Amino acid sequence: MSTKLQWIETELANLKEQGLFNTIRTIGTPQGAWIEVDGRRVLNLCSNNYLGLANHPRLKDAAKGAIDEMGVGPAAVRSIAGTTTLHTTLEERLARFKGVEAALTFQSGFNANIAVIPALVGKGDVIFSDRLNHASIIDGCRLSGAKIVAYEHNSPDDLRAKIAETTEYGRRLIISDGVFSMDGDIAPLPALYEVAREHDILLMVDDAHGEGVLGKGGRGIVDHFDLHGKVDIEVGTMSKAFGVVGGIVAGKKLLIDWLKQRARPFLFSSAMTAPDAAACLTAVDMLEESTELVDRLWSNAAVFKKGMQALGFDTGVSETPIVPVMLGEAPLAQQFSKKLFEAGVFAMSIGFPTVAKGKARIRVMNSAAHSPEDLETALAAFEQVGKELGVVPA
Ligand SMILES: *Cc1c(COP(=O)(O)O)cnc(C)c1O
Repeated sequence: MSTKLQWIETELANLKEQGLFNTIRTIGTPQGAWIEVDGRRVLNLCSNNYLGLANHPRLKDAAKGAIDEMGVGPAAVRSIAGTTTLHTTLEERLARFKGVEAALTFQSGFNANIAVIPALVGKGDVIFSDRLNHASIIDGCRLSGAKIVAYEHNSPDDLRAKIAETTEYGRRLIISDGVFSMDGDIAPLPALYEVAREHDILLMVDDAHGEGVLGKGGRGIVDHFDLHGKVDIEVGTMSKAFGVVGGIVAGKKLLIDWLKQRARPFLFSSAMTAPDAAACLTAVDMLEESTELVDRLWSNAAVFKKGMQALGFDTGVSETPIVPVMLGEAPLAQQFSKKLFEAGVFAMSIGFPTVAKGKARIRVMNSAAHSPEDLETALAAFEQVGKELGVVPA
C-alpha cells in the first residue's frame, strides 16, 4: 500500500485498542420501539425518535402525497431555482409554532448552525460559547473566523467574567445548546438572557433536543422558560422529535431576511426535499393538535430514570428524556453495550472524544414509542448486565 495513507491504519488500530472504535450497526426495519439491528430484533434505546414520528402513518402519507404532487428532488438551490409553497408554508407554520416572527429551514441542524453563525459574526468579532456546545456549533464558530471564547458549562457567572475580560471586539454573540445531548441537562437560559441583556449581546440557543420535547406541546426551550421575544436566534432540527430531517433557524423577520441573502448553506446547497417538508408539516400539525405524545415521552422518561436509580445506577445530571448511564472507562461502557445487545437491548456506549475521558457512558434515549412493557424489558436488561459486570450491587 502507498505510505501516504499508512497513518490512517495506525490511527484506526489505536482507536480499536483504546475501545474507541465506533462500529456502525445496520438497521433492517423502520425506526420504532423495536427494530432489527444486524439481523436481530432488539429494543431500541438509541434513537432521537422522541415522539415515535419517524415511521408514523400520518407522516408517511404526507410524504407520499408530496412525492405524487411535487416529485422527489428540489433540482437546485432555492435562491436560484425558486422555492415551493411546501417549504414556505412549513416555515410560516414553524414560526407560528415557536412564537417567533419568521423561520428558515435548512437541510439539517448541522447546516443551520454553519449557516447562521458565520452570517452574524466574522473576523474581529467574538463568540462566547458554552464549553460543551455541540460539534456543529463549534464548526459554525470556527468557520465564522470570529474569536471564540469558551465559558464553563452552564455557568452564567463564568460567562460574565469572560465577557468582562474580552475588551476588543466588533460584534458579540453568546451561544448555548438548549439541551446538552450527552448529559441531558438544560441550559440556564433565563440567566444567560440576563447576561446578554446587561451587555447588549446577541443570544443564540440551539434547541435540537428541545424541539418537540421541552415547552408546551414541544414548543421548545424558549417556551419552557417563557422567554418569548428575548432570544435572538433559535436553531433547531426536524431530525429528532419531528422524526424527519431538516434544520431550522427562527427569530425576527430581519434575521431571516438576512440569512436568505447571506447564509451559505441556503445559497449554495439544495433544500430539503418535498416529502421531507410535507412530513415535517404534518409533525407540526400533530404537535399543535395534542400534547399526548410529548406527555407520554416525559412520563416514560420519569419511569425509566426512577427505575435505574432504584437499581443503583448513576444517571448523571439529566433533566430531560436523555438518560446517561455513567460507567467511567470506555472499554467498560463498550462491554456493557455489547452485553445489553446480547440481552436484546440496543443502547450505545459513548466515549471520548464525544465525551471527556473517564466519563464514558451508555446513553439511553427515551421515546413516546415505548410501552410500559418495553420500559420493564429495558430495566431488567440493565439490572442483569449491571450485576454481571459489578456496576450495581448483586
Ligand atoms: C443533533 C444536533 C444537531 C444536528 O442536527 P441534524 O439535523 O442531525 O444535523 C445540531 N445541534 C445539536 C445541539 C444537536 O443535538
